[in-house]
Amino acid sequence: MIKFCNERVLSFELDYLDVMWEIEPTTEDVQEYQFFVERSEAEAGPWLQIAGPLVDVYRFRDNATPQITTNARTLFYRVKALHSPTGRIVYSPLFDQEGPISLHAKEMVRLERVLFEEFVAIHCWIFPRRTFGQRCPNCYDDVLDKVIDDSCPTCWSTGFSGGYHHPISFWAQIDAPEQTEQVSLEDHRRVLYYQIRCGPSPALKPMDLIIDHQNRRYRVVTVSGTARLGVTVRQEARLVQIQRGSIEDKIPLKVDTATVKRFPEKVFTNPHSLEAAEPDISSIFGAYGYTP
Ligand SMILES: [Zn+2]
Repeated sequence: MIKFCNERVLSFELDYLDVMWEIEPTTEDVQEYQFFVERSEAEAGPWLQIAGPLVDVYRFRDNATPQITTNARTLFYRVKALHSPTGRIVYSPLFDQEGPISLHAKEMVRLERVLFEEFVAIHCWIFPRRTFGQRCPNCYDDVLDKVIDDSCPTCWSTGFSGGYHHPISFWAQIDAPEQTEQVSLEDHRRVLYYQIRCGPSPALKPMDLIIDHQNRRYRVVTVSGTARLGVTVRQEARLVQIQRGSIEDKIPLKVDTATVKRFPEKVFTNPHSLEAAEPDISSIFGAYGYTP
């Protein structure tokens, strides 16, 4: 099978994005391959096929990208190659406008990953919010041009049908919350702000929904982070916990609770722990491997 290389997205216009890819030199007949370009707003899909079949074509101009309305949107692309005689399929890696990650940055991400997965992270899921697509048929008013039901179960009050893309599981460090009491004439409201830290993938953006293993549900408020040569290597975000009883509590997270891990499995263990000792108190020498 062919191998993809040098995938990239470039454009200096708002009206289109140029999606380009190459394949590594091969002795196969490239005429037997059909290419399909797929696009998604989230790394886990759902993927929309936007072009294909293309034969011996390595460039596509995507002029259907809604880019003008918001800054907080990253479009991910991948290219599917179908080998027509055998029906076998191979995908390119995901790519976006940020471009490929450098070797230095890869090592930074790996070291951070050791920190997260061995010491500080807990299990979280992110629901990337839809920012374009089909308007909600249930609650979106075409005339007023806005959502007219704050607790709509079709779009979870996002205004777009389905509301969110597929959830993505990841490990992240969440700090203890900053607790604030918002006092008004009518009521008191306890607002909890959290700091979260994680690797570059999955990409966070404001208004995304995050759920942790305690079923605390958060709205992403701000996202910042560290970049190397323009490629994100680490993300930090500020979250606010969603008030219990909101429509977001009804969004189903379809995981098997019997198999969910709250923390990542440790790769490094300490062989000098007391678990190696004989638990019977009468054999204090058990710690030294002595059995009477
Ligand atoms: Zn709706």
